[in-house]
Amino acid sequence: MEAPCMNRLKQKEFTLASLTDLTSSSSSPSSSPVVATFSCVDEVTELRFQESESADSFSFDLSSAQLFKLGPLQLVCVCDSSNSTKENSFSRGVVIKFRDEKESKDFCDSFEEWTKDAVTKGSCLPNGTVSYSSSKFDNKIEAASAKMYFHYYGQLLHQQNMLQDYVRTGTYHAAVMENRSDFSGRVVVDVGAGSGILSMFAALAGAKHVYAVEASEMADYARKLIAGNPLLAERITVIKGKIEDVELPEKADVLISEPMGTLLVNERMLETYVIARDRFLSPNGKMFPTVGRIHMAPFADEFLFIEMANKALFWQQQNYYGVDLTPLYGSAHQGYFSQPVVDAFDPRLLVAPSMFHVIDFTKMKEEQFYEIDVPLKFTASVCTRVHGLACWFDVLFDGSTVQRWFTTAPGAPTTHWYQIRCVLLQPIHVMAGQEITGRLHLVAHSAQSYTINLNLSAKMWGPGANQGGILQTSSCKLDLKEPYYRMSQPQVYPVAQEPPAQPQDLQIQSDDLEEVELLQQNTNAQF
Ligand code: SAH
Repeated sequence: MEAPCMNRLKQKEFTLASLTDLTSSSSSPSSSPVVATFSCVDEVTELRFQESESADSFSFDLSSAQLFKLGPLQLVCVCDSSNSTKENSFSRGVVIKFRDEKESKDFCDSFEEWTKDAVTKGSCLPNGTVSYSSSKFDNKIEAASAKMYFHYYGQLLHQQNMLQDYVRTGTYHAAVMENRSDFSGRVVVDVGAGSGILSMFAALAGAKHVYAVEASEMADYARKLIAGNPLLAERITVIKGKIEDVELPEKADVLISEPMGTLLVNERMLETYVIARDRFLSPNGKMFPTVGRIHMAPFADEFLFIEMANKALFWQQQNYYGVDLTPLYGSAHQGYFSQPVVDAFDPRLLVAPSMFHVIDFTKMKEEQFYEIDVPLKFTASVCTRVHGLACWFDVLFDGSTVQRWFTTAPGAPTTHWYQIRCVLLQPIHVMAGQEITGRLHLVAHSAQSYTINLNLSAKMWGPGANQGGILQTSSCKLDLKEPYYRMSQPQVYPVAQEPPAQPQDLQIQSDDLEEVELLQQNTNAQF
């Protein structure tokens, strides 16, 4: 099922006291009554003006029309170009006069309603799906970013990459199958269905019907794949369109989705997930996954720090084919440190027990994802130089039968998310037992990602500590959209004679036990 055209509003007519065409040479009011009609013609919402005693009419495309109040009875309506001026690109304006204030107000209300529903010309997708200019998605995400994003997901190779992450896909499969009772006989919405794999898992678990909503061209492949599984196909409908725009014929009992990006929030698809909750989920419906957690811990990695610093050394050359490159050294250095590092690291690099920030998908409001502020507090377990903050995430499938966690923690089976590390421009020195405080501040941007502001400080240690001064503080600003994928360089870690205590083991909060459980559970989740 595709997004419906905008005939959701009923055609509406207003008889005007008079109409003056500002762009005609005479600019005198109409001699006979004029009827203004809001309607949808050929998928374009328009405002048509028709003089009762003349065959002449013209219309304004409401996607580019604006209304200004001149007084209680008088308005000016301006449009980029009307159908009668197609041959040129001049704007057209009219002064509209009403017989009474009520009509004037009703007209303004209708104008607002219809322009909200207006479709930008040319935004009809080739498959006939229509993107609304008022789409929540289009309003906050740059068109160029969205185009690249959906192009990426429209390709089978990227869907295959996700399907071949067996830790991921296996955990989803297990979470669904172990919780059949949550799916059996239920209506399910697959939010961002991709290849349709989760829809098929839901159908295998006995779902009554699954609506697989997918915005990219992958929707066509999903249809084909699902059609090739006829026993499941009769209970799955693929809908090509954005969650923010499509309409569904019924409410869902369950939402299933894989909306997680690097650092959990990258790609900003969690916002789509909670929009789907608000639009489609019945009040007591279930969400798979239900909760997500961002885990964080300071790390020490001299190799990584030197590797990053060395990258910018190129710009320290004073004679590069006779050219001095040093003016750009500082910028290049900063540039490299603004890239979060994505790789799988040895958990022994963590120098303090981790902490976590919970994101409850069942409660979080869409706007709360725009800015995420996490106060940081750790206790160093060793004396070392801290090079930055390591982050990973896990999600919980809070099924009625089994609660299953899926983790991307270091040391757990590696997933295609790996882990991410924010490297400080200046490391900070800490002693064992010393407190490390700071802040991780994530600000969403319109390219479907986040600016990361990280600040870490180490409090004074030893004599003088009571005076309470902060000894060192170090900050960095990174763009989550521009990661440095470091998987190609396998790291050699020295094998310790006696393995040092696992940072997770040192955790004193209840988080501790859960974390260990997570690792164990996840190992079981493998096939
Ligand atoms: N569910 C699949 C694919 C996950 S990747 C699986 O688990 O294998 C996320 C998918 O969501 C992508 O295919 C992407 O195109 C789709 N998507 C992202 N934002 C969307 C939106 N706003 N509306 C519909 N689909 C969206």
